[in-house]
Amino acid sequence: METSAVKVGNIFIGGGHPIVVQTMCNTHTSDIEASVAQCVRMYEAGAEMIRLTVPSMDDVKALAEIKKQLRATGMETPLVADVHFSSEIAIAAAEVVEKVRINPGNFHKDHSKACEQFSKLVSVCREHGTAIRIGLNHGSLGERITNLYGNTPLAMKEAAMEWINLCLENNFRNTVVSLKASNTIVMVEAYRLLADAMKENGISFPLHLGVTEAGNGDSGRIKSAVGISALLSEGIGDTVRVSLTEDPVNEIPVARYLADRYGGKLHSSMSGIEISGRKARACYAAPSRERLILDFACDFGKMLLDKKIDEVELHGSYIGENGKETPLDGSPEAEYFTDELMQAARRRFYKPEYVACPGCGRTMYNLEETFNEVKRRTSHLKGMVIAVMGCIVNGPGEMADADWGYVGEGSGKVSIYRKKTPVMRHVPESEAIDRLLELIDKDNTETAPI
Ligand code: SF4
Repeated sequence: METSAVKVGNIFIGGGHPIVVQTMCNTHTSDIEASVAQCVRMYEAGAEMIRLTVPSMDDVKALAEIKKQLRATGMETPLVADVHFSSEIAIAAAEVVEKVRINPGNFHKDHSKACEQFSKLVSVCREHGTAIRIGLNHGSLGERITNLYGNTPLAMKEAAMEWINLCLENNFRNTVVSLKASNTIVMVEAYRLLADAMKENGISFPLHLGVTEAGNGDSGRIKSAVGISALLSEGIGDTVRVSLTEDPVNEIPVARYLADRYGGKLHSSMSGIEISGRKARACYAAPSRERLILDFACDFGKMLLDKKIDEVELHGSYIGENGKETPLDGSPEAEYFTDELMQAARRRFYKPEYVACPGCGRTMYNLEETFNEVKRRTSHLKGMVIAVMGCIVNGPGEMADADWGYVGEGSGKVSIYRKKTPVMRHVPESEAIDRLLELIDKDNTETAPI
């Protein structure tokens, strides 16, 4: 898909420029020292754009100081302010950094007021040369749109087109758009619908790709690679963020792999493939474990998502950390990689489906540790959807299809959700995982067949 170039500080997104690799700090933006240190680590790892959360006007001031300190070291990486709900904060941040990420639909419940606020933001962005990302996530589309179209990929596309058209009415084109979801089918369909709609209307805004709340470890990497690669292989997508509930620096090699692979700089380590009926049999000679899982996810994720095949068998080997060849044929690890891929493409569920945000400056607890503990204690709940979210501001909206959710409130307290309803509030962190498990047990007992 041909897109126009959007200038963000010293880089361009779209317009035939290489796919931009970006990430987001999980520090408190008000902790200037920690945020600067994390930005430097991200830059050294290859981040080409860095986002920071901006929940208050004080954080706008902190952001200005972070930018000043980074520029003083010679680091010119563009910074992006991640702003939720407040158009005032977005406007203030637009005067400070190179790009602002917002969901204008959440500026105001009254759509015409939200439009007015968005138009004000656009005029400030124009004045300061700031770019905008219209970032609409499945699960936080707002009542007006979901009442019209349901909580669907179509609703995501329609919402995006409304704001894109408002940009055009304001003659503002320095805009990138994202439609993220944790569900890879929803995510891929939403971007495809938007790409088609833009093409039909002669619009060429670049797209930022990501699978949101992808989790961590192998699952987070495979899920992200499945969703993002399906689109990049079709020429959809100009910048990527791989969201992992880990140290954000770990996101960069995965995003770099995707950018390089679909930028034509590297090829799959697959050494052979046979497709018979609806089953594929693939053989790899991968230089590392991480390369194997990413190659495998990119080679077969789209075929599985689009139901071109029903099964895939993994053979060959990869080079382990000890430098030795690790054979895959018939191994439990090959079966595990295949199970992970089938689940990421939503073709077969062999374990619970986890929805976990990557965390950001709004997270007030050890998200990664808690998520790993929730995973350890719920691994038997095959097919259930369990969310672990960093904050009460966005967590409940973003956890979309979760059956149960653990949502950090701040000050050592947690809310426990059943679907969209908070059923326990202000639970001390030390007890919260136990309460979540009790609720899941109770719900499963009540609904179990007699
Ligand atoms: S849900 Fe997670 S990533 Fe999103 S704003 Fe809250 S803490 Fe940050």
